Amino acid sequence: MPEQSLANYQSIAAGLRLPEHAFIDGDIITARGAAVFQTLNPATGMPLATLPHCGPEDVDRAVRAARQVFQAGSWSRAAPEVRKAALLRLADLIRRDGQKLAVMESLESGKPITDCLNEITVEVPDIFQWYAELIDKSYDRIAPTAETACAMILREPIGVVATVLPWNFPLLMATWKLAPALASGCSVVVKPAEDTSLTALCLAELAVEAGIPAGVLNILTGPGETTGRLIGQHADIDTVSFTGSTEVGRLFLQYAASSNLKTVGLEMGGKSPFIVLDDAELTPELIDNAAMAAFWNGGQNCSANMRQIVARNRQDEYLEKVVARARAIRVGDPLDPGTEMGPMISRQHRNRVQSFIDTGVKEGARLMLAPDAEIMSGPGSFLAPTVFADLTPGMTIAREEIFGPVLGVLAVSSLEEALTVANGTEYGLHATVYTGDLNHAMHFARRLACGTVAVNGFTEGDIKTPFGGYRKSGSLARDKGIEAMGQYQQTKTVWINLPESAT
Ligand code: NAD
Repeated sequence: MPEQSLANYQSIAAGLRLPEHAFIDGDIITARGAAVFQTLNPATGMPLATLPHCGPEDVDRAVRAARQVFQAGSWSRAAPEVRKAALLRLADLIRRDGQKLAVMESLESGKPITDCLNEITVEVPDIFQWYAELIDKSYDRIAPTAETACAMILREPIGVVATVLPWNFPLLMATWKLAPALASGCSVVVKPAEDTSLTALCLAELAVEAGIPAGVLNILTGPGETTGRLIGQHADIDTVSFTGSTEVGRLFLQYAASSNLKTVGLEMGGKSPFIVLDDAELTPELIDNAAMAAFWNGGQNCSANMRQIVARNRQDEYLEKVVARARAIRVGDPLDPGTEMGPMISRQHRNRVQSFIDTGVKEGARLMLAPDAEIMSGPGSFLAPTVFADLTPGMTIAREEIFGPVLGVLAVSSLEEALTVANGTEYGLHATVYTGDLNHAMHFARRLACGTVAVNGFTEGDIKTPFGGYRKSGSLARDKGIEAMGQYQQTKTVWINLPESAT
């Protein structure tokens, strides 16, 4: 294992060859249109890469390639063992190049290198491996009928899938979609977020090296308002799997309605609660989890637990401990292995988060830990952890998704009030409950209106468990687990009439 130091990662960064192209039909290509766009390194504010702004011709070309290979069947109808072997090779190639990819992702997203390493050298290849291994262990079904028929319920790949992705977990989010879509036999057109396209482009090259046929995986770079919209409105895409804001998710439903009625899977925003009941012991482990739930990835996490709902009689002790932990979080150079929190994705996003903090103060929330002015004064888009107390459910910062490191504590006086406040949101992605009583844990687990409930520890589950939201956090689609396959498959009934038995 190479030395785990800032100098080591800086030297890997200096030697990186950053992609400058889109990827269509197995080829690195410059876009047909002359337009390009630039991405910035959020830690320095300096330009990082210049990429094609894919226009209508590029989108058409990618969709055509995906359709042709789907119809040809070299992937969609390949034997399960063939797809399995290729995806296992892809997992190994990601492991081989994992360190470089992690450094690239840290540079473009501002995520701490330790998080990037964990996601890209461990989680991403393990997810490809998990779905690869599922392929030849998944059976279709036979319906119960009389002997005069055999009724088969077959699952078939849906066809051409597009996936439009956010910037907060670039390669991991791509993998949550791609691994089950490719395992199903679909062809895929990926549009990464415009701030974070690089690792997806490298993944497409590795897919070719792994033996996945040209055209099965295409990457279109470009902004959402143009490239993303063209994808949403394209008449030959069968399904879109989208992760991003609720506002843009709604647009994808409109695009589908006004084009070919493609199916749309949505994973969207959240305003998730972290509930501490009065029987929970405020251990260092609980406080670490509270801080991680709010500040992991700088709070730029769909399931961030920003509304921390705490039993009123524990509030003072809780605030003292959470503020101390938040103050200790090391904000700094994402390539430094000691860094716990990097910059916000952009200055524009930092300004948006800052305006929520200002609104919180104006609306009367008590600022217990203000963002560190020194951290914000340098280059890049850094922001430090912020903690508010005395939130009330109607306040803007208690209702709207901030997507930054702003933790707010709401005090409650009873179990039922905790539940009412927790559910008092338009969203429903995730919740954490801390309690020493199993009965309370189950009561909350059953009554919380959200897709994932974590008890006595902040977690989103693992690859074996589905992830998705209730209400405005998601559609019925789920990422992860066997359930994710449902986004990329459709069922076909084959009813075979048989002659009456001769006996
Ligand atoms: P976003 O909605 O702004 O962008 C997501 C993607 O949509 C990007 O690729 C973007 O280019 C594209 N897009 C933007 N405008 C578009 C348009 N008009 N037409 C078509 N495409 C368009 O979201 P973001 O800022 O990248 O990510 C943050 C959001 O994602 C947060 O709301 C967060 O909660 C959510 N998110 C959800 C999950 C989940 O699993 N539920 C996971 C990660 C992030």
